[in-house]
Amino acid sequence: MDSDPLRIVTYPHPTLRYESKPVLRVDARLRKIIDQMFDLMYEARGVGLAANQVDLPLRLFVANPAGERGDGEELVVINPVLDQFKGTTHGEEGCLSLPGLYAPVARAKSLKLLGYDLKGQAINREVDGYLARIIQHEYDHLNGVLFIDRLSEEQLRDLAHGLEELQIDFESKSRTGTIPSASAIASRRAEWEQAYA
Ligand code: ZN
Repeated sequence: MDSDPLRIVTYPHPTLRYESKPVLRVDARLRKIIDQMFDLMYEARGVGLAANQVDLPLRLFVANPAGERGDGEELVVINPVLDQFKGTTHGEEGCLSLPGLYAPVARAKSLKLLGYDLKGQAINREVDGYLARIIQHEYDHLNGVLFIDRLSEEQLRDLAHGLEELQIDFESKSRTGTIPSASAIASRRAEWEQAYA
């Protein structure tokens, strides 16, 4: 599994619907993967990336609300838990796994973020604003939930054409072998779980 270059998978890749498993150990290889996740996120002009968006079934995500290396705050959260949701706010969201699609999504205004950083230090902090939105979006990913699952039927109708295009693209890449078979994807996930979860 070392030889596979890390890349962002797009809807309807099955790992995006997979409930990720808690990480039991962090080693040099996983640290390198997290580094590569930041690279991919910045290249794609994103502000957050969950491990299952790079086809890894592990409960961790990276984020940086500034979206630029060297700017803002780089956050790595392992085994996140969200608590004490307060308020509701609507804001436009997109997703690196749903390229080109955007819609306003209702999220809690503030919350408490618990989890671990890369050094194994406990995270326990109140977050609000844009960072709170990013964290809720990434946390959803780890449970196999996409922002399109949080839209009204009317909002979904507006995105239907774009979703269909992604579906057609995915199916054609599956046919040509650019995307591995469902069983190959599942066995790769099992290898990663064996190693880290
Ligand atoms: Zn996303």
